This record gives sequence, structure tokens and C-alpha cells, in this order.
Amino acid sequence: MELDTNDLKILGAVKKGLTTFGGIKNVMNLKKDELVKILDILDESEMIRSTTDTGLLGQKKLIIHLTDKGEQKIQEYLEILRKKWRDMLDLAIAGERDQLDQMIKDNPFMVNMMVFFKVTDLPTLSRLNLRFLLEGKHLCYKCKKELTRFTQRFSVSDVRKFQFKLPRGMTTRDDLCADCFNKLTKH
Ligand SMILES: [Zn+2]
Repeated sequence: MELDTNDLKILGAVKKGLTTFGGIKNVMNLKKDELVKILDILDESEMIRSTTDTGLLGQKKLIIHLTDKGEQKIQEYLEILRKKWRDMLDLAIAGERDQLDQMIKDNPFMVNMMVFFKVTDLPTLSRLNLRFLLEGKHLCYKCKKELTRFTQRFSVSDVRKFQFKLPRGMTTRDDLCADCFNKLTKH
């Protein structure tokens, strides 16, 4: 079975020791029913299993465990990430920016997952000038044009300040380029 980014991230969260529903929900940017659905899929494919524990006040608590199969899946995925990271380092050193861009276009969350699984980290990415590879880091939320250090960018608070209509799904972590900002309409 092919797992997607969220599935793998949840497996990773369980491996990191987040074993309760609430704990996993806190690190995942997911709605409750979405998380339930993924946990069901992971349970059915025997990547995780769950037990119930009784809390101090007698309340029942769901505890999620990683199975051997789940552990193996993570190890396989880590191998892939480590290999890709070595490839990316080679490309970065060789100055093959186009190929790096293509890798991220093919798999937008790859570097984010590398950071999540500690294959690399933010200081390393900064040092190598590779932070732009993080999904959504420096891209305009609407047109996906790259926002460099020198381009003007507009945040959710700017949109609110001008009483423009907030683009659907835009969050405080996103920015807009000047073109897209100017095209926004008033409420
Ligand atoms: Zn834009």
C-alpha cells in the first residue's frame, strides 16, 4: 500500500512518542475526522494498533502503538529520504538549481518531511541557502511565484488591514506577491 505524506507523518509522530489522539492531532494540521480516517486506514493496513488505557480518573484513553510493519515502513521511507537528501546536496554543491526545483515540483513536501524526520534541519538548510525548498516557504500563496528577500510580500494581516477578501485557505503562514495582493477585491 502506498502511504501519502500525512500517513507517514502520523506514523512518524507515533514513533516520536505521541501515542494519544490529542497528541497526534496537535502536530498534524488536520481536522478531527480527517485524522480518524487516516488512523483507520493505518490500523486496517496493520501499521498501527491501538489499546485503551484507564486514566487517573477512570476515564478511557486510546493509546496508539506502532507495529513492526509500521516501524519497517518508516525505516524504508527514511532510507529514501536520506538518499534523496544526499542527491540534493550534490545538486546544490554543483549549482544545479533547475534539477533541485524539479525534484521539489515532483514532490513538494519532501524537504518538509526531511525536516520532520530529522534527515536534515532548518539551520543546515539556511546555511546551504536551501530554505526555498521547503513547501510554501517563499512562494506566493496564489500564483506560486517565488518571493525572494527583495520582493514585497503581503500577509493575512495586510489583507485584513485593507479589508480585502482573504483568498480561500490562506493562513498566517502564507504570503502574497504584490500582483496577487493588488488583484484582491474588497469585502
Ligand atoms: Zn502572486
